[in-house]
Amino acid sequence: MSYFQPNFVAKSTPVRVRFGAGTRKEIAEEIRALGAERALVLSTPPQSDTAMEFAEIIGSLAAGVFTRAAMHTPVAISEEAVAHAREIDADCLVAVGGGSTTGLGKAIAYRTDLPQIVVPTTYAGSEATPILGQTVGGRKTTLTDLKVLPEVIVYDPELIATLPVPMTVTSALNAMAHAAEALYAKDRNPLSTALAVEGIDAFASALPRVVAAPEDIEARGETLYGAWLCGTVLGQVGMALHHKLCHTLGGSFDLPHAETHAIVLPHAIAFNEEAVPDHLAPLARALGGESAGAALHDFAKSMGAPTALRDLGLDEADLDRAADIAIENPYWNPRPIERASIRALLQAAWEGSKPSS
Ligand code: NAD
Repeated sequence: MSYFQPNFVAKSTPVRVRFGAGTRKEIAEEIRALGAERALVLSTPPQSDTAMEFAEIIGSLAAGVFTRAAMHTPVAISEEAVAHAREIDADCLVAVGGGSTTGLGKAIAYRTDLPQIVVPTTYAGSEATPILGQTVGGRKTTLTDLKVLPEVIVYDPELIATLPVPMTVTSALNAMAHAAEALYAKDRNPLSTALAVEGIDAFASALPRVVAAPEDIEARGETLYGAWLCGTVLGQVGMALHHKLCHTLGGSFDLPHAETHAIVLPHAIAFNEEAVPDHLAPLARALGGESAGAALHDFAKSMGAPTALRDLGLDEADLDRAADIAIENPYWNPRPIERASIRALLQAAWEGSKPSS
């Protein structure tokens, strides 16, 4: 069966992708291909050694290193990084890390139009989207602009082999969440659906092998391939209930990004599965279950993922407020949103129970 739809609008973005173990050693070639010769290397503080390794690999094309990328892209840090980029006369960015470092690169590009080479070391997928989330004084805003879309992505599975297993699992479920919601997105098209299904299949096949042997570079490669596909669909179609719930929980209750995605996903998908079971059938099939929501719960649990919001420190008393915020600003979802059903969903996610549908 194909993913044909009788009517659709499809969009794709111009990005060059270089994939393979050891490809980080070819970064200088990518810098030259952009016509650049003064790269600013970016990372978070814990990954500063990796950033220094990159500066060494890049050699005379490295103009500087900035290692202060932080979660949620605080504007004050982005402005400091822009000042630094101008001071050293950087003509391109090399962002090495997860979504936080990619976010910093995008924030600099948004303000300077510098071309970006992103080398992802988690599965978050931000490298493949024209979306930038930033925070000022704890308030998160999101914008979509082609200026922030990286020009080049270099995927090197050797770099992700150091991602600790718990983070590997939650980051993978974060990536799978993009693909899961893409299956029923209002603006989906045959290509976005095909990418989403292939992304889910890649994780379903390779994540258990990575958990069993975290340094298995071939399995790491297949998961990273999945992350590319899941990130690409995130850049192509709109998200729904699951992402709204995670933004609510992350933004208003300061819950950690990837863990929150991992916990909420089975519940949000089970909720929507009642309305669109056919759209979610490829997800259930990939995970070997009858229902996508329940199969996601089993898959996540078998990989050792957290399953209950209460284990992230959320108070049960906060669930009412979370439900109120989650239903504010009506947004499209395949199943109508009502406060009572969202409150029940949040309760189940808080308790960590297996979704029943
Ligand atoms: P992250 O980038 O904050 O990384 C988490 C921690 O893991 C950091 O300390 C980092 O240095 C470390 N780390 C990363 N890779 C590692 C590796 N291979 N080995 C050892 N340590 C490593 O986390 P994330 O989940 O990748 O990104 C989350 C952020 O990305 C959030 O702010 C989220 O909003 C954003 N995001 C944005 C988009 C978008 O399209 N704009 C998409 C997805 C996520």
